[in-house]
Amino acid sequence: MAGGWARDGAVEEQIEASINDELKRMQARRGPTGESRTHCAECDEEIPERRREAIPGVKLCVDCQQGRDARPQARGGVNRRGSKDSQLR
Ligand SMILES: [Zn+2]
Repeated sequence: MAGGWARDGAVEEQIEASINDELKRMQARRGPTGESRTHCAECDEEIPERRREAIPGVKLCVDCQQGRDARPQARGGVNRRGSKDSQLR
C-alpha cells in the first residue's frame, strides 16, 4: 500500500508539472499578440474598450477588420476570371 501512495504522489506531481508547462506556453504565446491597440492600425479610429477586452491583441477597428476578412476572397475571384479571359484570347 505504501508503494501505491508513492505512485499516486508521483502522478500528481507529473500532472502539476504539465499544467505549469502549459501555463508557461500560453503566457509565451500571449506575449507578442497580447498588446491591444487603443486606436486602429489602419484608420486610426479609436477601438472601444469592450472590443479590446473581448479580443486580446486587437489591432483593427470593426470596420477595418471586416474589410480585411472580405478582401482576399473578392481578389481571388477577380484573378481567376482575369486568367480565364486571357486564355480565351
Ligand atoms: Zn479602422
